[in-house]
Amino acid sequence: MLTYNELIELRDKLINNEIGIELAKEQCWKDFKEGQRSWHSKDWKERRLKIIKEKCQICNSKETLTLQHLSHPKKYNEYLRVITRNYTNQYINSNSEIDKTEFRNHVLSDYEYIPIPLCPNCNSKNPSERVRKMPKYRCTDCKHEFDEANYRSASELISIFFEDEDAYEVRDKCFVSKDKWKNRHNLSNIKYWFQRNKAKDKDAESIEKKAFLLYLNDNIKYLSFEDTITACRKCASNYDLHRMELCPKCKEFYKGIQYPTCIQCLPEEKRKEVEEQIEFGKQWREMEKRLGID
Ligand SMILES: [Zn+2]
Ligand SMILES: [Zn+2]
Ligand SMILES: [Zn+2]
Repeated sequence: MLTYNELIELRDKLINNEIGIELAKEQCWKDFKEGQRSWHSKDWKERRLKIIKEKCQICNSKETLTLQHLSHPKKYNEYLRVITRNYTNQYINSNSEIDKTEFRNHVLSDYEYIPIPLCPNCNSKNPSERVRKMPKYRCTDCKHEFDEANYRSASELISIFFEDEDAYEVRDKCFVSKDKWKNRHNLSNIKYWFQRNKAKDKDAESIEKKAFLLYLNDNIKYLSFEDTITACRKCASNYDLHRMELCPKCKEFYKGIQYPTCIQCLPEEKRKEVEEQIEFGKQWREMEKRLGID
C-alpha cells in the first residue's frame, strides 16, 4: 500500500500525463492486499501522532483517545460507475440517432428472444393459459378461445421500436442477454446499454482516469486525517460519529448536527446541567462496575 506522500505524487503524475492510467493503477495496487489497512504503516502512525488532540473533541475527556474518521473512501468501481453514467448521458444527448442496422444485429445476435403469446383475434398480450381445458388459451380481453397463439418475431418488434420507442408492443422485457449476467431487458434497456458501450469505447481512457483520480483524492483525504475527530472511547462508541460536525462557535469541539453548538459553548447554566448529567452517568457506570453489574 502506498504512503500518503506516494499517493499524492502518483496523483500529480497522472494529472500531468507523466504516467498512463494502466501503470498508475498497477503502482497503486501492486502490494495491495484485501483487508490490509493503512494503520499498519509506520508513516500512518507518525502522522497520526501529530494530528490526534490531547482531549476528546466531544466531551473534553482525556481517557483512551482515538482518531475517528467521519468519512470513508469509496471503491474505485463505484466511481467508475458514476463517471461512466455521466459520459453515457452526455453521449446520448449528442447522439440520439443510433445505427439501426448495427442495433438490429446486436439484438438478434446477443440476446435470446422469449416471445409473448398474443390473442390471434385482438392481438392482446398474455391470454390465460389453461392446463386442463381445451382449447389451450382464452383471451382475457375478447374472450376468444384458441390453441395456437400468435407471436411477433424479434425483427418485427425492433421495427415497431424504431417507429415508436414507447409503443405498447415493445415494453416487455422479453430479451435475455446471452452473457453471464442473463439480464432481462426490453428494447429501451438494450438501447441504453448499447449507447453506454459506445460512450465507454469512445472515451475509455478519460473515464478510467477521471474515476481513478477521484479514487486517489478520496484516499489522500482519508490518509490526511482531514475529516477526523479525536474522541475518547466512550464518545467513539456512544455517538453516531457520522452525525457530528465541528462546533461553529469554538471550531474546536464537535456537536451533534441537531444542536446549535457543542456542550462547551452552551450558555453557562445549560452547560452545567449537561455536564452534571454526564458526570452522573459516569459515577453510575463506575458504581455498576464496582458491583459487578457491568
Ligand atoms: Zn468523549
Ligand atoms: Zn383477444
Ligand atoms: Zn463549541
